[in-house]
Amino acid sequence: MKKFLHDRLVVFMFFASTLSVLVIMLYTSVMMKSTADFLKYNIEGRMIALSRLAARIATADELSGLVTSDDMNKPIFGDIKRRLADFAAETDITYAYYLRDIGGGEMQFIVDNDFTEETVNLATPPIPYEESPKMAQEGIASTAGLGNYSIGYDNLLSAFAPVFDAEGSVVAIAGVDVIDERTILIRNRIALLVVFMLATLIIVIVSGFKGLTLYRNKAKQSEAADAAKGAFLSHMSHEMRTPMNAIIGMTTIAKMSSDVEKKDHCIKKIAEASSHLLGVINDILDMSKIDANKLALSPVSFNFEKMLQRAVGIVNFQADEKRQDLTVHIDGDVPLFLSGDEQRLAQVITNLLGNAVKFTPEGGSIILSALLADERDGICTLQISVTDTGIGIPKEQQSRLFGSFEQAEISTSHKFGGTGLGLAISKRIVEMMGGKIWIESEFGKGSSFIFTVRMKRGADEFSDPWPCAGPSGTDRSPREKDCFLGYRALLAEDIEINREIVQTLLEPTSLSIVCAKNGAEAVELFKEAPDRYDIIFMDVQMPEVDGYEATRRIRALGVPKAEEIPIVAMTANVFREDIKKCLDAGMNDHVGKPLDFDEVMDRLRRYLPQERGEVPSL
Ligand code: ADP
Repeated sequence: MKKFLHDRLVVFMFFASTLSVLVIMLYTSVMMKSTADFLKYNIEGRMIALSRLAARIATADELSGLVTSDDMNKPIFGDIKRRLADFAAETDITYAYYLRDIGGGEMQFIVDNDFTEETVNLATPPIPYEESPKMAQEGIASTAGLGNYSIGYDNLLSAFAPVFDAEGSVVAIAGVDVIDERTILIRNRIALLVVFMLATLIIVIVSGFKGLTLYRNKAKQSEAADAAKGAFLSHMSHEMRTPMNAIIGMTTIAKMSSDVEKKDHCIKKIAEASSHLLGVINDILDMSKIDANKLALSPVSFNFEKMLQRAVGIVNFQADEKRQDLTVHIDGDVPLFLSGDEQRLAQVITNLLGNAVKFTPEGGSIILSALLADERDGICTLQISVTDTGIGIPKEQQSRLFGSFEQAEISTSHKFGGTGLGLAISKRIVEMMGGKIWIESEFGKGSSFIFTVRMKRGADEFSDPWPCAGPSGTDRSPREKDCFLGYRALLAEDIEINREIVQTLLEPTSLSIVCAKNGAEAVELFKEAPDRYDIIFMDVQMPEVDGYEATRRIRALGVPKAEEIPIVAMTANVFREDIKKCLDAGMNDHVGKPLDFDEVMDRLRRYLPQERGEVPSL
């Protein structure tokens, strides 16, 4: 309601201000026009009066004696000339003269006031009649109007009056001229001012309208953004509540049940829902990074085939469950090593594979293939496609699927779940890698998601900052039992449940764990007895002193153990830029959060030789 009133007020103010500007401008224009008319009227009136006076300077008789050029030598000619000159000087006009109608629409100059130029007067060739002298010939004094008179004399204001003889006939025309440049200038300036005011008015109205339109558009945009935010929140709330519901429900069932099998089933469901929830959270975080233009690529040299294997490994289990046939085809030309953001590329492929598994019925088939489409100036263009025999996508829905929160049909989200963010994120990543992504699909028959990326060939070295940090350490042979008896870890973690998870997860390994509630406490504990610890697990985001700072302080303690002790970051930020930050702070390694048990075990195996024995008491 408040916003509605505010909008009305803005519109009202715009129209009120435009209207008042319009009225002021119109009024000023009218005033200026009447001032100009008044000026004109005065000047013209004065000139007509002067022409009438000039008509009396010489008599009809005197003028009738001046006809040929020889008559110019008569004393009367000079006398009249002088009288005219005096008259002009007294009345402040430029020219005073006499004309005569010589028939055939032409006039002849008889005499004027001008002594300076070589005056010819009676010898001057006839000049055509103008309107004003014609009126004088008919006995009426008039003016030619500003700037109108005459051929070659446009800067003069002229007035003409008849010279009558005793019978009342017009024998000559008396003319007076004044240079009216100033008057014309003033008149033109007034006209210019009017034009300027009109232009200003137009600008005021147009810019006002523009401003108003902009305001309205902004208001609409913010309304749309509010609506999108609302839709986003309700969609995300649904997406997060669904797995949360499963987790809470299954936990309750597991607690109530004494049947081990049932408990196992519940735990399996809880694990599935949790990893789904994690996916949703990751998508939202990625999307917010994209929105804030914060998504950056971190190129490294990587083994393309291994990256594909890992991506396939992530969906293999689900594909197996649905008895789908998942095959990978890599064209022989594709370089084994490439230089690019391996994680982000794997993210796109995993997303497409995940969708293919999700939208393909049991027993269907999925093909992941990669080929080298082009190689120029050391840059390879790879074309990667994921083809399935799934439900397919109708043509009209294909183009919008790459927009945020878009799903083919509302029913799809109910049936299959999903945030509708995966393809939007994939599109952005692919574009950042200099490529494009598109769909080829037939409804009911299957879909192909194809994309290209541009990458340099990579070097034959694996520059992974965590050389052994593959997901779950899958290429490692599993041990019968991992025992770290005799070792002690310092765990810096501010959240109690996270501390409990680590302690409980590692209980079977006999690893002794000392907990610190933040970075400062971890530094203090370590400082008290550096040799007491064999490894440090360091959460990154902690109050007071964060994991980076705590690591820096430990490394700077100046005792040999402080420099040697392995420090493993435990952080939810798993992209290379985050990992690099950990490395720069002095950490050795990293495990992602939520914790993957295998990953933690992998780090323990790497940094702690097995079977040490009893924990030395302090
Ligand atoms: P999500 O899968 O989380 O809903 P995506 O952006 O990955 O979000 O996909 C958007 C939509 O595109 C899906 O909801 C689905 O309607 C459609 N889609 C994606 N991949 C496929 C596929 N392989 N077969 C059929 N439809 C698909």
